[in-house]
Amino acid sequence: MDQDPILANLNEAQHEAVVAPLSGQYQILAGPGTGKTKTLTSRVAYLMNTVPAKDILVMTFTNAAAREMRSRIKQLIPNNNEVSKLNVGTFHGECFKYLVRYGSRIGLSGKITIADPTDQAAIMKEIVNSAETTVKLEEFGYSSKLGKCYSNPTTKMNINLDPKHCIKKISEFKSHGYTEVQDFAKVCPNEFNSPIGMYIYRKYQDELEENGLVDFDDIIIKTRDLLKQCPDIVSNIQAVLVDEFQDSSTVQLELTVLFAKATGNITIVGDPDQSIYAFRNAQPENMRLLQKMFPNSKVIYLEENYRSTQPILDIAVGLIRRDRNRIGGDRLLKSQDSQNTTKKSLPVLAQFKSEKDEAAYVATQIKYLRDCSGTLFKYQDMAILARTGYASKKCELELAFNGIPYRVLGGFKFWDRAEVKLVVDYFRVVNSDNDRVAISSTINAPKRGFGPVTLTKLLTRVDDKTSIFTQLKQYAYDEEFREEHGLKIRKDALEGLDNYIKLIEGCRDILKEADALGPATCIRNILDHILEKTNLVKILAANDANNEEKRLENIELIRSQIDLVYQNDEMNDDGGAAEEDLNPLQTLLLSLSLGGDGEDSAYSNDRVTISTMHSAKGLEWPIVFSINTIDDHVARGGDKGEEEERRLLFVSLTRAKLLLYVSFATTLVKFGNEEEASMTRLLTGLEHHFKTCDKGKGTTNISWDMFVSYANFLRRPVPDRKQIQFASSATTVPSKSASFSGFTLASSVIERPQNKKRKPHIPSAPISR
Ligand code: ATP
Ligand code: MG
Repeated sequence: MDQDPILANLNEAQHEAVVAPLSGQYQILAGPGTGKTKTLTSRVAYLMNTVPAKDILVMTFTNAAAREMRSRIKQLIPNNNEVSKLNVGTFHGECFKYLVRYGSRIGLSGKITIADPTDQAAIMKEIVNSAETTVKLEEFGYSSKLGKCYSNPTTKMNINLDPKHCIKKISEFKSHGYTEVQDFAKVCPNEFNSPIGMYIYRKYQDELEENGLVDFDDIIIKTRDLLKQCPDIVSNIQAVLVDEFQDSSTVQLELTVLFAKATGNITIVGDPDQSIYAFRNAQPENMRLLQKMFPNSKVIYLEENYRSTQPILDIAVGLIRRDRNRIGGDRLLKSQDSQNTTKKSLPVLAQFKSEKDEAAYVATQIKYLRDCSGTLFKYQDMAILARTGYASKKCELELAFNGIPYRVLGGFKFWDRAEVKLVVDYFRVVNSDNDRVAISSTINAPKRGFGPVTLTKLLTRVDDKTSIFTQLKQYAYDEEFREEHGLKIRKDALEGLDNYIKLIEGCRDILKEADALGPATCIRNILDHILEKTNLVKILAANDANNEEKRLENIELIRSQIDLVYQNDEMNDDGGAAEEDLNPLQTLLLSLSLGGDGEDSAYSNDRVTISTMHSAKGLEWPIVFSINTIDDHVARGGDKGEEEERRLLFVSLTRAKLLLYVSFATTLVKFGNEEEASMTRLLTGLEHHFKTCDKGKGTTNISWDMFVSYANFLRRPVPDRKQIQFASSATTVPSKSASFSGFTLASSVIERPQNKKRKPHIPSAPISR
């Protein structure tokens, strides 16, 4: 075995990829769990022997995956301080840093802020409801209206002006890398390829620009434009490595090549079977395109699977083989022979009458697995994956009800909560003079005496040149200016405006001290200043008796979160490629806009993960619950929808190492109505790969041998046999079991064990409803 810890535990193909020469292009193709990320991170650690860390760029698509990569690299070379200088992040994160630092070269202000979906919606709402838009609709002949849909009877053109719909269409357009309205015809459906569509698009872009904002698509497009015009800014980059390349869009492929402009040294890894971002315009063909661009690039296949047990892989392979549009080829499925030789346990397929029952089942199983496994399984070993964030809400409630700690990935974030968002908006105003969206959210919160007319006046730009904050100051302190622009303002409101301006400027004074104070103290002082001057804590307490405690707690959590953001922001230590130009407030805002570390780190680490299938990409857990596995409308949305849905389920099932539970409910409550549901058709014909749950038997039949093999696999001490409560004796399935597809499934939750002497036992979960 290799003595170098970076090269230890690699198989031959992985080893070849890791030690391949720096120069050239490499594509590592393989199925889930074959060690693609392991190989990529090992290669980064290996390259650091010869290439300065700051000249290596490693990108992926989700924050969780980026964190995972950084932590794996650290584990490989724990004593190498250079790791902090590596550029490891998401495409969006890495690009944004370049925009902040060099954006002025393409006419962007250095103080740009990311417009998150809430901001986008606010901006679009204002546009579609504006008088100007009404005039334009008339001008372009849209004379009839049904809901939010406008029609032109002459041309028979329609346009849906629902703000969310407009944002989605514009994002679709931009994700192709286009910015000019004449390109609308290439990608947009008719409704936006029209004078009114073009007007809405232009308005939206102008509004972003005026406010110094960029949306997520702009981050990518503008960085592409920046790198095209100024390739010198990446002349230091000696190697670009991208994980999950199958999820790259056309612009991201372009960007990868542009980042590597100086040397052309590119390593990408990917698995076309896991391409799940078609809705964001991901192009799994990008791997082939890259091969075309660099005909000498070397393809390396990894063919051994180290993650999931064979029964899990059998289902996954059975599922994905049916994809009629597979571009991966059989070579990728060869890799589905598992090296995980733990004792086999068949995955469970469970059907329930209601989502409530399903959620109760999941919570009870989680409790059981943790409490009865003699400390072998921890909460952090388990994940609940669902198609959407909404679908897992019932499970979330159930876990909370049972006191099971959890974290939510890709869902509602700590930083999105109203009171927390308000504080963040204050941070944004401190950061930028031109962020009208943040100014309008904070200027009257708490109330400062402005009526709606005054507010509109204050927030409407007087000209293109004056920043919105400067304008506020002119209104506050220059009577002539007020007269010239017709602002009549009451005395108390004028005082309110003065207070607001002083508050922001007070924060800016603290920010100037950042070097002396250190980043975390500086931001904490700014936070204290905001809290003191706004009286926010008192106001929250007075206004919201019900949620008072929680909201106050959230405000307190901001403080601990600030510390965590800076702790995790290692690049701040001594500057990565682009981050040295960010002040501490910008670093915080960047971390927040891109999903940062948010709620995740606010609590203990031993928590169950609840995640959307999309956000679970690249991650793995010993135990996975794939819930809400119903015949979804997306799966029925024609070939493309069905194939994407199949790949999504493939990703979801292959997150599991040891135990897999797939479940669904036969009735759903949607908008107050009960609807029938059934198991996803994608699994039809694969039922025999699952465990059948006969009456009277638990669904978790883990034998002693299994516990021992799991402990060995997880490299944990073998549990004390006496502490283990074996499921078969401890659990019974209620008599009402449903017959399904020729075999019997548990129809309800497992009951609490009767034997009170056994400890730990399953606590009193809400088992009978
Ligand atoms: P995905 O497609 O889901 O992202 P992946 O191909 O990136 O999967 P990894 O996450 O890198 O796979 O690896 C899966 C698991 O297998 C990890 O726990 C990793 O540590 C382990 N693993 C990978 N290669 C080896 C090896 N040669 N020996 C032992 N374990 C390995
Ligand atoms: Mg991976």
